[in-house]
Amino acid sequence: MRIAIVGGGLGGLAAAALLSRAGADFDVQVFEQAQVFRKLGAGIQVAPNMVRVLRGIGIADAVIREGCVPHCSLSRRAETGEIMLDFPFVHDGVLRYGEPLLTVHRGELHAALLAAVPRSRVHFGRRVVDVDADRAGARLAFEDASTAQADLVVGADGIRSRVRDVLLGPDPPRLMKTSYRAMVPAARLPGAVDDLTKWWGADRVFIAYFTSATREVLSLACDAPDKQWPHETSFVPSTPEALRTAMEGFEPRVQRIIDAAPAVTKWALYDRESFPLWSRGPITLLGDAAHPMLPHAGLGGAMALEDAAVLSRCLLAERADTGRALARYEATRKDRTAAVQERSRQNDWLMDTPDGHDWVFDYDALGEPLGEPA
Ligand SMILES: Cc1cc2nc3c(=O)[nH]c(=O)nc-3n(C[C@H](O)[C@H](O)[C@H](O)COP(=O)(O)OP(=O)(O)OC[C@H]3O[C@@H](n4cnc5c(N)ncnc54)[C@H](O)[C@@H]3O)c2cc1C
Repeated sequence: MRIAIVGGGLGGLAAAALLSRAGADFDVQVFEQAQVFRKLGAGIQVAPNMVRVLRGIGIADAVIREGCVPHCSLSRRAETGEIMLDFPFVHDGVLRYGEPLLTVHRGELHAALLAAVPRSRVHFGRRVVDVDADRAGARLAFEDASTAQADLVVGADGIRSRVRDVLLGPDPPRLMKTSYRAMVPAARLPGAVDDLTKWWGADRVFIAYFTSATREVLSLACDAPDKQWPHETSFVPSTPEALRTAMEGFEPRVQRIIDAAPAVTKWALYDRESFPLWSRGPITLLGDAAHPMLPHAGLGGAMALEDAAVLSRCLLAERADTGRALARYEATRKDRTAAVQERSRQNDWLMDTPDGHDWVFDYDALGEPLGEPA
């Protein structure tokens, strides 16, 4: 089966790695618009359910060695710093979910996923502009006027997915809010900082965590007050002054972290409703292309990797019938990803209650029973 994956982000590379390893007769090719691979981005939280998929790919231990493994997630009140929740991920040396939650530089995670895919299968500088399908399969058209044929097209091309537009018609994602992010060298921080902390204000949240085992850099993110985005790109440079103004009233620990930030970027955060369908004929969607979500719970990447795991299992289980494989994929994933989208919108994940998180963190996308289409 010739499988064309559009997008070499977190979900697309995870799917390519798993399908390349599946042992079946899968000819997997990844088409990525970027000209070259770059270790972009800031920090990312890798939830235990995401680590389980990394283990299936064979890169979990390498990523865990690279990242910071916080023993707990701390919640503090914005104004006073009072602890609202100390949610343990490791207790008496035992991992609560069998796998850790870790925080790592997104570029390192991306590089580990890329290294797990045979190099000859990843094609950079290939921006997909159109996809069409008939009984014989699918045809991809690229910006450089080249084309490719496939038996299955997986749209893993992120929140502004071109493949999604082909399936469902053009519909830009909704701008929900804006957010500041910064990377702070630990050497500039006066005093110790906890591994992973969220400060909860009435209408703003501030989060900070380390991006490596050596705890050399702290990644921070927080809500910005405005909701305008006149820019073409998903993030733009901002200033430490703007960040300081946004976090006025937050307790001194937050102010000290902000004061140490050498540079600040500002991001647009988007959302979409769940889609009526994920697949048509030999075309399907995965990750943010299928269910973009606000980053408040830090679970968008985890959902993309879970999708990749379930899709590869469905294709393996239903090799003779791709349509049935895609129907089972959607049946397995749709309700869960919609529920995580909704929880992300609520913006109260790990805020003040220790209950109600196991359904996310305990999930094993490589072991859960596959669903049956209604
Ligand atoms: C500020 C912020 C913080 C976040 N923090 C976390 C976190 O802590 N934990 C977590 O789990 N998730 C987090 N997320 C969410 C996570 O980053 C995404 O959910 C995840 O990257 C989705 O993976 P994906 O493969 O679907 O898309 P992406 O990783 O976005 O990859 C899409 C790829 O497709 C390529 N592409 C796009 N269009 C085309 C085209 N036409 N042709 C070819 N290639 C194309 C792009 O270049 C890109 O490489 C965060 C998101 C944001 C914005």
